[in-house]
Amino acid sequence: MLGTLYLIATPIGNLEDLTYRAHRILGEVDLVLCEDTRNTKKLLDHYQIKTATKSFHQHSDARRFNQVLSALESGQNLALVSDAGTPGISDPGAALVAAVRERFASEAKIFSLPGASAVTVALPLSGWPVDRFCFFGFLPHKKGRQSRLKELLEQRYPVLIYESKHRLAKLLEELEILEREFGVQLELMIARELTKMFEQTYFGRPGDLARLLSEDLDMAKGEFVVLLRQAKKSANNND
Ligand code: SAM
Repeated sequence: MLGTLYLIATPIGNLEDLTYRAHRILGEVDLVLCEDTRNTKKLLDHYQIKTATKSFHQHSDARRFNQVLSALESGQNLALVSDAGTPGISDPGAALVAAVRERFASEAKIFSLPGASAVTVALPLSGWPVDRFCFFGFLPHKKGRQSRLKELLEQRYPVLIYESKHRLAKLLEELEILEREFGVQLELMIARELTKMFEQTYFGRPGDLARLLSEDLDMAKGEFVVLLRQAKKSANNND
């Protein structure tokens, strides 16, 4: 009988954020496919889960894909995890799911186990209406970055992006320039180190947050999600 592929969300910082179901399935499957086996080992060791691990990431070659497909064909049950959060969300996963669906069509058995993602952890912290939002993941570092940034400003709903600590200051500077260029006011929420010891949220316009960042070196440490929206102009506000 064909094996099952489980896509398992894992914590984005706080190791307690693993569901009971994820814990059970990680212990029951034949193999855990990991973005980085060393990272996942820390989680598995914490929960004393002894299941074997194998690496599977964005650079995995056709041979590794075939090994995974053959393992499923021989009836093995597999789990796919990323370093943190939900596989497939700015992380490897989609290509494997596509390959399994292509090979086994309607016979494919794939389950996505819910859990942490920086997207869903960050959104409710804003207090903004986020029943509709846009997710842009990581912005390109160089080529295409400017046009993607302009695309952000065209959205009618709050936009969520992932940003690394190395580019946070640059992003704030770029957004401040775009505000002037397009005559808009942006409101931002920066959510830092979600679920971790030094979790913090910052609110303000790009310029305010850039100043804060230059004064507080700790603010640039860790992992970040940036949520932005255009501020509503009041009727007599010509700024
Ligand atoms: N698959 C993951 C998810 O579901 O959230 C995202 C993986 S992506 C490679 C990593 C990015 O997610 C980080 O650079 C950061 O922007 C965001 N992120 C992950 N963990 C975070 C945390 N604890 N606090 C804030 N942002 C986080």
